[in-house]
Amino acid sequence: MGERPYRMFIDGAWIGAGERPTYPIPNPATEEIVAHAPEGTRGDVGRAIAAARRAFDHGPWPRSTPAERAAVLLKIADGIQARKEQFRALLVAAHAAEAMTHVLQLETPIYSLYNHAELVGSFPWEEEVPTLMVPTKRGMMETHAAVVRQPAGVCALIPTWNFPLFTTLNKIAPAIAAGCTMVVKPSPWGPLVDLLLAEVIAECDLPPGVFNVVTGQAPELGADLVESAAVDKVSFTGSVSTGKKIMRAAAETLKRVHLELGGKSALVILDDADVETAAPSAASPAFFHAGQGCALMTRVLVPRKKHDALVAATVAFIEKKVKLGDPADPTVNLGPVIREERRAAIETLIASGREQGAVLATGGGRPASQPRGYFVEPTVFANVRNHMTIAREEIFGPVVSILPFDDDDDAVRIANASEMGLYGGIVTNDVERGKRVARRIRTGGVGINNATNLLHAPFGGFKQSGIGREGGVYGVHEFTELQTIAWNVSGS
Ligand code: NAD
Repeated sequence: MGERPYRMFIDGAWIGAGERPTYPIPNPATEEIVAHAPEGTRGDVGRAIAAARRAFDHGPWPRSTPAERAAVLLKIADGIQARKEQFRALLVAAHAAEAMTHVLQLETPIYSLYNHAELVGSFPWEEEVPTLMVPTKRGMMETHAAVVRQPAGVCALIPTWNFPLFTTLNKIAPAIAAGCTMVVKPSPWGPLVDLLLAEVIAECDLPPGVFNVVTGQAPELGADLVESAAVDKVSFTGSVSTGKKIMRAAAETLKRVHLELGGKSALVILDDADVETAAPSAASPAFFHAGQGCALMTRVLVPRKKHDALVAATVAFIEKKVKLGDPADPTVNLGPVIREERRAAIETLIASGREQGAVLATGGGRPASQPRGYFVEPTVFANVRNHMTIAREEIFGPVVSILPFDDDDDAVRIANASEMGLYGGIVTNDVERGKRVARRIRTGGVGINNATNLLHAPFGGFKQSGIGREGGVYGVHEFTELQTIAWNVSGS
C-alpha cells in the first residue's frame, strides 16, 4: 500500500498530490518517514486570505445562527470520533504522543467541540445595558443601548505541534462558534493532524472560504498572514520569541492579537505536604509528553528541609515508573522529543545546568537503549538556584529542576521571579491555605493538588506567556468584537 496523500484546502477546493512539492514528516521515535506534507506557497496563503475575506464580507456565514454554528461543531466532533483511530495513529507516529497523553491529545479536543456546541446557545451574543436618562430641552429622554458581540472577522490561526489537535481546535472551535472565517497555518512540524482535520471539516457544509488550511515550512507563510491588511485577527500558539515578532508585525494594521506562549511554571510543595505524595507531580515534566508542554511545572519548589527527600523520591519514582521507548508500545510513557534540533537545544541547556553548579540527580544524556530517534533521558537537577539558565529558560524536554525555599514568602518570590507567567501548581493538605498562596502567584492559572479545568475555565498567560485566553466562553469572547447599538425611541 502506498503512502497516504495529504492535501491543503483553500476556498472549498483541495490542493495536493502532484500540485505542489512536498516535504517529509519523520516519526520522532524511528526516524522513518510517516508521510509527506504539501509545501504551500505565499500565493496559496494569498488565495486563502482572499477566500476567507470574500466568505466573511459577502457570504452568509457571519450571519449564521447560533444553532447553525452548533450543528457544524457537532458535525466536526462526530467526524473526528468516526476517524478517532486514524487520528490516534497519526498522533503517535508523527508526534510521539504516548498512551498516557491521549486524553489531552484526543479526547479533550473532542469534548471541547461538544462544549462549544453547547455554549453557543447560551453565549451573550446580545445584551441590553441599563437605560440612560438624558436631559434635553423638552425634559428627560430615555436612551437605550445593546451590546452586540460581532464575529472578529478573518482570522489567522497558527497553532503548534506539541498538542496539535488540542491547540488547533482551541482556535477553530471558538472561531466557528463566533461566526468568523479562517486560514489555518499549522506548524511545519505538525501539519498532518491538521490536514486530516481539514478532511473532517470539509464534510461539514461550511460555505467555501470559511475554513482554509495552508501547510509549508517557510516562516513567510505565517508572516504573510500576520502582515495582511485583509486579516482582522491572529491567534498564535508558540514560543515567546515568535510571539514578539507577531505582535510587532501586527501593529502595522492594529490587528487583534491573541498569543498563547511559553511557560516556566513552578510547582510549590508546601511544608504540610508529604514528599512521597508529591513525588509523581514533581517527576511529571521528566516524562509527560517528553516535557513538551507549555504548562508543565518544570521548576519544583520544596521546603529546604525536605529538599533531599524529595529529590530521592522523585528519582525513585522515575526509576520505577518511567518506561522510555517508542510510543507505539502502549506501555511506554516517555517517548522522544519532536526533532533532532530540539534535542540539541535541550542538551545545550542540560550542559548549562551542570556548568552553573546544579546537581544532576538522574539522567542528562541519551539512552543507550535507543540508537534511533530523538530520545533524551528523564533528567532531574537538584539544588537549582533560580538565576540558573535551566530555571529561567523553557527547556521543552524531559528535564525537571528542584529548588529549595525557606518559607511561603520565599516560595512565592521564587515562583514569581520569571519573565513568564503561564501556570503554576501547589501541593498541600490544606486547600484553603493553597488558595491563599495561589492568589499571590502571578500566572494565568494555578492548580492545587494536580487540578486542571481545560474545558470551561480560561487558559492563558500573565507577563510574557501571552495575551488573551482560550477555553469555554472566554475563548469565544476572544473571537468577537463588541459593538454598541444605541437608540432613542423618538426622534432627537
Ligand atoms: P515557534 O515560536 O517556533 O512557532 C513556530 C510557528 O511560527 C510556525 O508555524 C512558523 O511558521 C511560525 N512563524 C515563524 N515566524 C513567524 C512570523 N514572523 N510570523 C508568523 N508566524 C511565524 O513555536 P513552536 O516550536 O511551534 O511551539 C513551541 C512553543 O509553543 C513553546 O514555547 C510552548 O510553550 C508553546 N506552547 C504554548 C501553549 C499555550 O497554550 N500557551 C500551548 C502549546 C505550546
